[in-house]
Amino acid sequence: MADHDLDLVVIGAGSGGVRAARIAAGYGARVLIAEEYRVGGTCVIRGCVPKKLLVYASRFADEFEDAAGYGWTLQEPRFNWPTLIANKDREIARLELAYTTNLERAGVKLAKSRAILEDAHTVRLRADDRRIRAKHILIATGAWPGMGTGIAGIEHVISSNEAFHLTELPRRILIQGGGYIAVEFACIFAGLGSEVTLVYRGENILRGFDDDIRTHLRTEMERRGIKVICKRIVEAVEKVDRGLCVELSDHDDIVVDTVMFATGRRPNVKGLGLETAGVRVNDKGAVEVDRFSRTSAPHIHAVGDVTDRIALTPVAIREGHAFADTVFGNRPTAADHVNVPTAVFSDPEIGVIGLTETQAREDFPKVDIYKTTFRTMKTAFLGGEARMLMKLVVDGASDRVLGCHIIGPDAAEMIQVLGIAIKMGATKADLDATMAVHPTLAEELVTMRTVTERHVRQAAE
Ligand SMILES: Cc1cc2nc3c(=O)[nH]c(=O)nc-3n(C[C@H](O)[C@H](O)[C@H](O)COP(=O)(O)OP(=O)(O)OC[C@H]3O[C@@H](n4cnc5c(N)ncnc54)[C@H](O)[C@@H]3O)c2cc1C
Repeated sequence: MADHDLDLVVIGAGSGGVRAARIAAGYGARVLIAEEYRVGGTCVIRGCVPKKLLVYASRFADEFEDAAGYGWTLQEPRFNWPTLIANKDREIARLELAYTTNLERAGVKLAKSRAILEDAHTVRLRADDRRIRAKHILIATGAWPGMGTGIAGIEHVISSNEAFHLTELPRRILIQGGGYIAVEFACIFAGLGSEVTLVYRGENILRGFDDDIRTHLRTEMERRGIKVICKRIVEAVEKVDRGLCVELSDHDDIVVDTVMFATGRRPNVKGLGLETAGVRVNDKGAVEVDRFSRTSAPHIHAVGDVTDRIALTPVAIREGHAFADTVFGNRPTAADHVNVPTAVFSDPEIGVIGLTETQAREDFPKVDIYKTTFRTMKTAFLGGEARMLMKLVVDGASDRVLGCHIIGPDAAEMIQVLGIAIKMGATKADLDATMAVHPTLAEELVTMRTVTERHVRQAAE
């Protein structure tokens, strides 16, 4: 092993890479982490964190409106986009510094450079053309917005990366995509006062989520004035005097100020030297790994979005931690990808865990659905129409809760907590036995008594 300069080189200082580097260093490994852009990766710099700050900003509009009904008199509120972006940038810089300091404190060396694999044990740092031999290499390079197959005028289209740095709030924005990033940005811009059109090629937004949640969100978004156009795609974008003219597949034209694509993210593997190092990718271009995040090349592992398992920050962190435990802590650990709770910070917000009704009906012969929709106390008081929806998917045979789907205020916070019980295998009877906290929204989760639908699969003749 004497010919190795280090025990570990991590490529990419995002959620997965930073965690892996720190934990490995804690086990006494000599670690270097290479980052070509900014420490913190997508989540901190241009993902979860700045997005949530924009979400907070966008929700004040409703709060101001509601305040009047609760007796407050306000002067007409005014919003300033450059102030929000400047304050957001300051906060991101603070977090980046905190991440860098934590790496230093853990004894991890940081190289601000693009890194490329030269063989199974060698990484080249582009900044100073340095070659480093390492006993182990971790690929944690994340993912990048996919912009489709190059329509005419694609140079006028932005991704979520640029959305965080627009110099002014677009008066009219068209977003293509139906996934969580697309709907979140649609709600952010609508909340801040933009006229928003969402274009999605599929039947309905949020493919893969429970159908009731998808329909509910679409209805609520439309009620808030967002124009949702499904079964269409953007065919061309042209710069015109009044802004950008977007041609849709039904030949309809829409003129807006900004066009954003949120049409999926691709594993960040371009030019990384995977082939030279003997690292295989799958048909989606993601680094192929086993449950211990081992790639096809001995001593090279990969974690996070670049492996396209579940593209979420906590998952990347868990995978990075499990890698370090396995390789440097002598504790073989595989990250658990079952029953991962997750949220969509749309307006209204979504929190989900486990199986959708459709998935459960495919896998279980008897499925009970408990569902409630209601106006929240806060909304009803104001005479508002917005509704909350909660749904439990239960195995009729064992009574185990297979899935929970919530859309409405604080759904993300609720699913984090209920997720513990469901991960532990809670039954519907366990929820029934839990005393309600009153008056709350979450109490509905433990007070749904009646089965709203029962699906029993008939035995084959
Ligand atoms: C708009 C948006 C919102 C999101 N919101 C959420 C959310 O609310 N909740 C959630 O859980 N997840 C969210 N995500 C997903 C989350 O950000 C990712 O799942 C997570 O960041 C993945 O971590 P990672 O370590 O795999 O990669 P990343 O965090 O992407 O880090 C990869 C790093 O590698 C660097 N890099 C790449 N190639 C090289 C190279 N050759 N040399 C050196 N450095 C390199 C990159 O610059 C980057 O810093 C969001 C993503 C986006 C885009």
